[in-house]
Amino acid sequence: MKRTLTTCPYCGTGCQFYLVADDSGRLVGVEPSTQHVVSKGQLCVKGFNAFEFVHHPDRLTTPAVRRNGRLETVAWDEAIGLVASRLREIQHRHGPDSIAFFSSAKTTNEENYLMMKLARAAFGTNNIDHCARLCHASTVAGLAAAFGSGAMTNSISCMEQADCIFVTGSNTTEQHPLIGTRIIRNVVENGARLIVSDNRTIRLARLADIHIRPINGTDVALLNSMMHVIIAEGLENKPFIAQRTENYEQLKQVVADYPPEKAAQICRITADQIADAARMFARADRAMIVYSMGITQHTHGVDNVKSCANLAMLTGNIGRPGTGVNPLRGQNNVQGACDMGALPNVYSGYQKVTDPAVRAKFQKAWGVERLPDQPGLAVTTAINAAAEGRLKGLLIMGENPMLSDPDQNHVRTALENLDFLAVIDIFSTSTTEFAHVILPAASYAERDGTFTSTERRVQPIRRAIDPIANSRPDWRILCEIAARAGYSGMKYDSPRQVMDEINGLTPSYAGITYDRTITIAHHGLQWPCPDQEHPGTPILHSTSFARGRGLFSPAHYKPSAELPDDDYPLLLTTGRCYWHFHTGHFLYISPQLL
Ligand code: SF4
Repeated sequence: MKRTLTTCPYCGTGCQFYLVADDSGRLVGVEPSTQHVVSKGQLCVKGFNAFEFVHHPDRLTTPAVRRNGRLETVAWDEAIGLVASRLREIQHRHGPDSIAFFSSAKTTNEENYLMMKLARAAFGTNNIDHCARLCHASTVAGLAAAFGSGAMTNSISCMEQADCIFVTGSNTTEQHPLIGTRIIRNVVENGARLIVSDNRTIRLARLADIHIRPINGTDVALLNSMMHVIIAEGLENKPFIAQRTENYEQLKQVVADYPPEKAAQICRITADQIADAARMFARADRAMIVYSMGITQHTHGVDNVKSCANLAMLTGNIGRPGTGVNPLRGQNNVQGACDMGALPNVYSGYQKVTDPAVRAKFQKAWGVERLPDQPGLAVTTAINAAAEGRLKGLLIMGENPMLSDPDQNHVRTALENLDFLAVIDIFSTSTTEFAHVILPAASYAERDGTFTSTERRVQPIRRAIDPIANSRPDWRILCEIAARAGYSGMKYDSPRQVMDEINGLTPSYAGITYDRTITIAHHGLQWPCPDQEHPGTPILHSTSFARGRGLFSPAHYKPSAELPDDDYPLLLTTGRCYWHFHTGHFLYISPQLL
């Protein structure tokens, strides 16, 4: 048996394990890594089954082109040539912003970097985005405004160091099982206090000291009211506020409007629950906030995120072990896809496309005269543009907007309206049904690269077996499309060369070289890591915020855009469950286990 250490392709926790292959090159199992800093010899059911789907008979095995409504298998050369020529043709006829690129939170950092380079350098558009738009884009915007950096402030290990954990909008044991385990362990073994805000009785709620069940979409009222109590009772951290923050007076003014009795009516809970939660959180020496899409997936998601940041700064719970604002990113590499600039407004490392100095740096490195200077279309607005006929061509890598975007009828209209759609994926999906060209990708087990977990930890994935059938790694496919489109700046022999380029252009990843992530096998490196001597940064903002002082950004409660009414009397919410992954196309559980 051959064992290959790699990183889990499912959730953002970033567990590592060994893929086990037999003599024939077939994966036969998974062994947890006892050495790994996060998984410590444990995995959840997804991790333990992360070998099953690789050999599934439904894998895409050869390129296909749709002719007269039917898919026909073709050679790689023909398929790649068609993608490159059709996108170029549309670009020439309708302009660069008539095409868009959807990158993937499931593929590697190197592949996300190449996708954004393909969009910007080869085709001259900032229309590049991925499904973070639908989950944590509000985290990136909200935390960047408050702290100057839009990522989890602390590390997963801090879950066991907190005296009080406030979990809001995160069904942690289902969506990030091994992080949920850490929280449970801290509560059960160390007696940490647990506050859960969720209108469902999730598993963590059964252990909680306080379980608050606010009506969906009222988080700002709840958080403002907790801050109201903290200030009214003198529980705020005055030295921290004075030395590390700004705009406190405005926060005081806004939260003064939210006495618990008023917020209790908005949230449909009791005033005592709000006051008790506020006191418990503020009196803890080390209190942390853990949130996920229950906070972000709202029309006022950015306000929710900023309110979480306000609460942490008000009580001085930033920059120390066991504290912080900790958004749990969903998929294995959604953090990395954002870090790599698979977003319409930034290059890798969140360097703005509107900054002339940044553009000049990338123009020089990529050998192009001019890069577009305005933010492009996001996933949601690109779909709108396609439905309206403004967007003509779309290349999708490892995304399934037909299921992951809201309003399937709208997405269907948009995809049917495109002149050209190409999809790179490992399985047929609801989206490939509309594709003119389908390119079969190699899975995570068949290629090298890196993923960045929710705690900003960059870790390697390694090729355990050869690509299945006629599939190819995404990075090779992207480079071949670029070459056939006439762009000569994407010639690489390996993901290592791509990471070398990322290191040179991305300050927060400058010290995260391929050699270091491979060598530090069981730990990876957490960004920011500015040089090759730097050990990485487990805790952000320990002495100052990335933006200097932390900015209190108070927000007033706004009702959700769509509320139940007589015609639609139900309130529905989204959520992950333990046995399911993403849009359902990549999880195959052994029937014996079910
Ligand atoms: Fe994989 Fe997440 Fe489960 Fe860890 S907790 S094994 S990363 S799915």
